[in-house]
Amino acid sequence: MIRIGLVGLGKIAHDQHLPALAGDPRFSLVAAASHGRPTHGDLPVFHDIDDLLANGPALDAVALCTPPQVRRETALAALRAGKHVFLEKPPGVTVGEVHELAAVARDQGVTLFTSWHSRFAAGVPQAKAWLAKRRLRKLAIEWREDVRRWHPGQAWIWQAGGMGVFDPAINALSILTEIMPEEVFVTGAKLQVPENVQAPIAGHVDITTLSGVPVTADLDFLQTGPQTWDITAWTDDGVLKLSLGGAELTIDGQAIPVGENREYPGLYDRFATLIAEGRSEVDVRPLSLVADAFLVGDRERVEAFVE
Ligand code: NAP
Repeated sequence: MIRIGLVGLGKIAHDQHLPALAGDPRFSLVAAASHGRPTHGDLPVFHDIDDLLANGPALDAVALCTPPQVRRETALAALRAGKHVFLEKPPGVTVGEVHELAAVARDQGVTLFTSWHSRFAAGVPQAKAWLAKRRLRKLAIEWREDVRRWHPGQAWIWQAGGMGVFDPAINALSILTEIMPEEVFVTGAKLQVPENVQAPIAGHVDITTLSGVPVTADLDFLQTGPQTWDITAWTDDGVLKLSLGGAELTIDGQAIPVGENREYPGLYDRFATLIAEGRSEVDVRPLSLVADAFLVGDRERVEAFVE
């Protein structure tokens, strides 16, 4: 039994982590820490990681569901206290700090898991297997959602390190780096940044594979009505499309049965396995692609964002 604490009891903790932990008999949720100290049944809730470690019950592991800007300090405290650490995506606000966390986890002999929930979407394993046997011609990501609907009141998303539209788009990049048979690299980007915030609200990213296959990503945080989380791959033997963030798969327009979408149960299954095997899983490739888009991207100042 892994005694676990949840840090950051906000939207994703309530939507996904609490139900996933409740459904996994290998974990026992013994405490939480969150700035506002929201109540959750009779679960003891502390103010932050230091309060939890100093005054909470004994723990083996923590899952960090805070905004990314405080991930490093929170993870360092937990790792130095000898706890296994599950990082929500993105695993940090810089690539370097994730390497730092990996080094500390190695020194401490504990597990660090950079979770990428969209890789556990139902259609992703079959998409990867199908693409592995074909020659890719081009691939297009379209990730368009309504920030007001999915991220109400989340001021952190607009601050430095919050990533703006890349907060959801990094999920597409996590699928991309999982399903592609070869490595991918950013070659250019255009980012639209509202005049009153630090992070982009829309953008276009050009990516290439090692062998020169073009990949594009079109991102928008202001799409109302139907929401779009699609990845389409054109090959020498048909067109593959992942929709609904990877939950649905079609090939040449025909729906492929992929089973139930169980992203967070899948993540906790992987975390339990890593702990049991005494290993870490640290993958910064989606974050590196975002970092490169920020490094190379042309910025256009656009109308202020008002929630
Ligand atoms: P959120 O609703 O703003 O929740 C974050 C929570 O963390 C808040 O309760 C906040 O408390 C707390 N917090 C902030 N700093 C803290 C600290 N130093 N110590 C303890 N608690 C702290 O954000 P979210 O949507 O859940 O997103 C959190 C992370 O999950 C992000 O990295 C996001 O990319 C990822 N994620 C989100 C979704 C989604 O659909 N929302 C999906 C997948 C992954 P206060 O508000 O009281 O400060």
